[in-house]
Amino acid sequence: MEKSKKFQKRKKEEYQMRTRMIHGNYESRRWDYDHHVIPPISSSTTFRLSSTHRGAQGFLDFGSPESQQGQEVPIYIYDRLDEPTRGMLEENLAYAEGGEIAVTFSTGMAAVSAAFGVTVASGDEIIAHQAMYGCTYSLLTNWYPRYKIPVHYCDLTQPKNLKPLINSRTRVVYFETPVNPTLDLIDIQAIRVLLDKVNHDRPDGKKILMIIDNTFATPYCQRPLPLGADIVVYSLTKNIGGFGTDMGGAVITSATFCNHLLLYRKDFGGVLSSKSAWPILVYGLPTLATRIANQQKTALKVSEFLENHPKVSLVRYPGLASFPQADLAQRQMTNYDGKFSPGSIIYFVLKEDGKNENEAAEKFIDFIADHSYTITLAVSLGQIKTLIENPSSMTHAALPPKLKKSKGIEPGGIRLSIGLEDWQDIIDDLKNGLEQI
Ligand SMILES: *Cc1c(COP(=O)(O)O)cnc(C)c1O
Repeated sequence: MEKSKKFQKRKKEEYQMRTRMIHGNYESRRWDYDHHVIPPISSSTTFRLSSTHRGAQGFLDFGSPESQQGQEVPIYIYDRLDEPTRGMLEENLAYAEGGEIAVTFSTGMAAVSAAFGVTVASGDEIIAHQAMYGCTYSLLTNWYPRYKIPVHYCDLTQPKNLKPLINSRTRVVYFETPVNPTLDLIDIQAIRVLLDKVNHDRPDGKKILMIIDNTFATPYCQRPLPLGADIVVYSLTKNIGGFGTDMGGAVITSATFCNHLLLYRKDFGGVLSSKSAWPILVYGLPTLATRIANQQKTALKVSEFLENHPKVSLVRYPGLASFPQADLAQRQMTNYDGKFSPGSIIYFVLKEDGKNENEAAEKFIDFIADHSYTITLAVSLGQIKTLIENPSSMTHAALPPKLKKSKGIEPGGIRLSIGLEDWQDIIDDLKNGLEQI
């Protein structure tokens, strides 16, 4: 067909990210994506190699940044090495995050393990913020010391606390921001400035790397790489997957880590199934912007309702004017257009005057579990359904009780992940629950 010569096709980079996340990189060389309106789902554990030479070339090419960035048509060999549906998701994730490459994993924890797996070895040390997702804490506390990788914890909401813990063996600084579940924020740019100073005199390969778990914020609300992070990790199970149907994880970073991440995934084996990659590619990522924009509006209304309720003692939501780190929130949590985007997760604590420290919270959550239509008692977050849980006894049970309290994870603390229901219905259900305590 004759195409108009005068009209210069707009580059996809010139479109808004909200549009780009829906259409993705449809010119991908990983698949004939061009003729499918919806990308196809691939389900083949092994691939026809055609000739010994081509097979050998495939093994030779495996893990090269060129093939990962879609610059070459990959020679697929075996699902655990690489496969097209997952590859398309990886291209689009890297794109949404502004990273050079993304490598997906079977779960968020597999992605977290891989990020450490390619950056630390026995003898190295990790510094981590003191509060984090319970399984990450368990990984760092129960497993890494067995591999002779000590982990030091400190309060990174005060970046100056980092300096005294750094020594010649320090290799990684790890944190979540917002922190799960307290929603404390850590200043990514301030940590970058500090690390640049320390790294100045270190040779390549010994420089301290900053790894950030951006699961709570999602790339829609915060992009740590341009702010100074070296590696970003995600649980795709949460907001990016968005519908609660599949588990997944991703590491997004510069092309320098590509080869090691792919080799790590190949050898440790935690690959994302193509059948799980597909819903995240087709439903999750393309609707992320719309879902979060909507959930955020509700989260602000719900957090304001909670803040003004006499039975609530504390509400943490980065969008509230009363948020202790409001300035940092405004600076760090912005969407692709630069607009403030505080996310969809709320943490709050009820006034407890009973014998047990979580008496009111337990009564409240149990009432919600029994009587609420909009709010479901379940762990996980970032779904189209509003979810409620008690981090201290559930997602963060792995943290020692004394530590939990000192880190702001109150026994009666409640995490609310806002879904897409009508905001008035969510508030009405919360109001009814609060009347019971
Ligand atoms: C859920 C979660 C993880 C782990 O992800 P899985 O997909 O459950 O393995 C890691 N970090 C944070 C912040 C999470 O919320």
